[in-house]
Amino acid sequence: MKLLPLAKRLNEVQESATVALAQRASALKRQGIDILAFGVGQPDFPTPDYILTAARDALQKSSHYTDVRGVLELRQAISEESKKRRGGISHRPDEIVVSVGAKHALFNLALALYDPGDEVIIPAPYWVSYPEQVRLVGAQPVIVPTLDQDNFILRPAALEQAITPRTKALILCTPSNPTGAAYTPSDLKALADVAKRHAFWIIVDEIYSQLVYDGFKQQSLLEVAPELKERLIIIDGVSKAYAMTGWRIGWMLGPQAIAKACDTIQGQATTNPATIAQYAAIAALNGDPVVIDAMRQQFEKRRTVLIEGINQIPGLCARMPDGAFYAFVDVRKLLGKRSGSTLLSDDMAVSEWLLDKARCAAVPGTPFGAPGFIRFSYATSIDTIEEGLRRIQSAVSELM
Ligand code: PMP
Ligand code: GLU
Repeated sequence: MKLLPLAKRLNEVQESATVALAQRASALKRQGIDILAFGVGQPDFPTPDYILTAARDALQKSSHYTDVRGVLELRQAISEESKKRRGGISHRPDEIVVSVGAKHALFNLALALYDPGDEVIIPAPYWVSYPEQVRLVGAQPVIVPTLDQDNFILRPAALEQAITPRTKALILCTPSNPTGAAYTPSDLKALADVAKRHAFWIIVDEIYSQLVYDGFKQQSLLEVAPELKERLIIIDGVSKAYAMTGWRIGWMLGPQAIAKACDTIQGQATTNPATIAQYAAIAALNGDPVVIDAMRQQFEKRRTVLIEGINQIPGLCARMPDGAFYAFVDVRKLLGKRSGSTLLSDDMAVSEWLLDKARCAAVPGTPFGAPGFIRFSYATSIDTIEEGLRRIQSAVSELM
């Protein structure tokens, strides 16, 4: 029998390039091929012990459904922790929805906010899932390029130009995946001044906000422009700063009506995120910040080794990132070169070639809206970074 077709929305959406590359690197590793993984953005550290202990305790007492939006105790912990890190401005527990990772929190928002025909402004380079989630719900991503030489920061004039009567939301990510660039308070203030003259929703993904380096002064848009609070939605979670990617806990903080909408959607999709993971997240947030700062310091050291090493390889260059754990490497000088019969025609070809030739997995820039770049995650050991640099140097030297 002839099968009926899949939903048309699948024609609009692409597979996640970050997830696809991670899966490909793991498959090669399973075949015994010695691949160095700079692909997926997840800490290589184990989840800290104090969090594991809390999860074990939770196993004894918490094996049932919870409130769709997460247990009150977790939302209170999020509320308090956020208040400390966001200039004393707080969200009540009924303004918070905990989801199955920040990705899910963002997807709830896409379903809650965007109708077909709506436009959502997304500065490029962007995290791969933002435009795809917008497309999945039938809305239109409006991609606004930013400049490498301007640290990939969205500037007010570019934002202003992208706004139309159909603009429903702006999505910012700071510190950014994939560039590692972070918005200073004055960068944010300049955008807030534009936003104040318009009515769109502002979504700021701050999942990397605890991972900043060289004393970068991280400030949330909430603190810089508290007057925007009634239409500002912050995304955060435990995946990155607490090395808890697999626990799948992320959340939104925003106006009560938006929280209610996300709760309604989540209540029909997944119900609550895993109960044990919620208790682990409470422990994470209430734990000693020294533990997570130790991981941050390791990322900072790795960043310096990777960026300095990349910049010593002729043909490659990368900016020193302010935060997150990605090096965004400009490979444009390699384009057009040949390695044997392989033509390095674009960043996708360079990424394939690095996998084959240097056995280093790193994500091409095109799916992040940044052709000519490759993203390397440095959430991996110094030994791996040094070995990776040797392999890349040796592969690139054959081209030059
Ligand atoms: N936002 C950004 C910018 C990310 O890099 C990630 C990484 N996966 C997420 C959201 C989603 O994080 P998670 O679903 O693991 O909480
Ligand atoms: N955010 C990480 C990355 O960009 C994890 C993979 C994903 O969820 O996209 O690599």
